[in-house]
Amino acid sequence: MPTIDELAAFCKRKGFVYPTAEIYGGLSGFFDFGPLGAELKSNIKKEWWKFHVHQRDDIVGMDGSIITNPKVWDASGHTAHFEDLMLTCSKCGQKVRADQFLEQALKMQAEGLTAEEVNGLVKKHKLTCPSCKSAFREVQPFNLMFSTMVGPKEDSSAKAYLRPETAQLMFADFKLVADNARMKLPFGIAQMGKAFRNEISPRDFLFRSREFEQMELEFFINPKDPKCPFLDEVKEHILLVCSEEMQKKGDAPKKMSVADALRKGVIKAEWHAYWLAVEHQWFISLGANPERFRIRQHVQKERSHYASETWDLEYEFPFGWKELLGMANRADFDMQQHMKSSKKDLSLFDEETKQKVIPHVVAEPSLGVERAFLVFLFDAYTDDKERGNIVLKLSPKLAPIKVGVFSLVNKLNEEAKKVYDLIRNDIFCTFDTGGSIGRRYARADEQGIPYCVTIDFDTLKDKAVTVRDRDTTKQVRIKISELKSYLLAKC
Ligand code: ATP
Repeated sequence: MPTIDELAAFCKRKGFVYPTAEIYGGLSGFFDFGPLGAELKSNIKKEWWKFHVHQRDDIVGMDGSIITNPKVWDASGHTAHFEDLMLTCSKCGQKVRADQFLEQALKMQAEGLTAEEVNGLVKKHKLTCPSCKSAFREVQPFNLMFSTMVGPKEDSSAKAYLRPETAQLMFADFKLVADNARMKLPFGIAQMGKAFRNEISPRDFLFRSREFEQMELEFFINPKDPKCPFLDEVKEHILLVCSEEMQKKGDAPKKMSVADALRKGVIKAEWHAYWLAVEHQWFISLGANPERFRIRQHVQKERSHYASETWDLEYEFPFGWKELLGMANRADFDMQQHMKSSKKDLSLFDEETKQKVIPHVVAEPSLGVERAFLVFLFDAYTDDKERGNIVLKLSPKLAPIKVGVFSLVNKLNEEAKKVYDLIRNDIFCTFDTGGSIGRRYARADEQGIPYCVTIDFDTLKDKAVTVRDRDTTKQVRIKISELKSYLLAKC
């Protein structure tokens, strides 16, 4: 596996991701996606939407506004509490996120520590500024929301925020969506789009940035009926489990089936176990290495006050096990908050009991698109010493370009162009005439192109082309008349 810096350099070289506006020196925590990166990101989002919305009867989508009424953020608690603790150097002014700094300096789990605890640890271990080694000031909270002004006014009544997560409008608009789509509990609302957090220390390339995208799902159930009817579909699925108890005892994570995890009470809610398994399966279905994932339960200190149980789906990055996706059992916290704050009834009428129900959110898989982007790239990146180039073994579903069309020699360009024109409307492909055929294959490998089609002198006689498989380099001869359906089936 490459380091995160090697991957970042590769992404820039091949046109996946650049630091934003690099000609002006960039801007920390912001990135631009180049031609291949824009395609890969869009394919990840398309696959997520297809899997979570189109292929299910119990989930519908919505697309909320990035800037919304700030009362939404008062109700959700973001205005008052969406903050990280920050340490500032008394001499050079450098600011670091306290929990991350302590985790690195003391090799401990520091998420959720109070300001007092952070100050105590800094004092006890005589920790100093990583840049100039001077003492820190007292730790301070820092709200991560970006604020802006709406309209020409500049007083506090115009203040609004860029959303720090996509989730809240799925609660605020809950009643409209449920009524319009005629949904019955249990059901989910899905949304994807940009989120913004003024992170104190953006780091690890795309992993922690200040502008990113989320793919989120709020799954609502009737609290009186907590059974998951789809459990059988995942009960044999194996997860590497790192429970709160294992963390407290210092035990190594254990592989467990979903059925065992529920039977032993390691995971409490059926729906929670179901969604953890389903999210793991989504990654695997798109070519990720199942062995690099685990689920980790939040220990009491890191758990939000409203969550009865929280699990993260984590991936083993070269810089350690890190959160890909968070999943809290939020019960009716958000619905109650928005009902209280808006004074509107968001409950549903249950035909069976003839009673109003305030749905509970038992699981809310919330995944960062860029973190998924990193996972697929890390698992696809193969340094093939024999070929002498990188082979990006992305699933054909995710590959930015599906097919490369080449002519063996320039003399055959016209013939090759005809083949390219034949398939380009249905399959995203590229027509490459630059350099030797070997050079073109190597370039295609690095771009993650799963199939290369080569037109040679025999094509003129047999009306067939050679199709090369990126991962095996095996070549097969396919009739031009069958080429499109052959490639469509493969991709
Ligand atoms: P972390 O502990 O890593 O800061 P979080 O617990 O604050 O993450 P959530 O609020 O649960 O994250 O957000 C849901 C998901 O959004 C995360 O699991 C992650 O995939 C993504 N995400 C959150 N913050 C960032 C960020 N700064 N850059 C990229 N992705 C992010």
